[in-house]
Amino acid sequence: MAYVITQPCVNEKSGECVSICPVDCIEEGEDQFFIDPNVCIDCGACVAACPVEAIVDENDLTPENESFLEKAESFFA
Ligand code: SF4
Ligand code: SF4
Repeated sequence: MAYVITQPCVNEKSGECVSICPVDCIEEGEDQFFIDPNVCIDCGACVAACPVEAIVDENDLTPENESFLEKAESFFA
């Protein structure tokens, strides 16, 4: 399980989440930031740091946001 950065981050990319993460698993991609699902410890600390509520629990992903987990996995592959 992991947290996933979704649509609102695209083109927002404010970056507040990066310094909050205790395991340093959030990296900047071309159009959004990504959480490495293999490193994320599910602490949830980044959720409140995001001003556009882009970060969600993997288990709470809506159908239209499910592709963002695959996008993150591809980014770190
Ligand atoms: S804080 Fe939110 S909008 Fe900013 S980079 Fe992180 S996920 Fe994206
Ligand atoms: S849930 Fe915790 S470990 Fe996972 S990305 Fe957010 S701050 Fe980092």
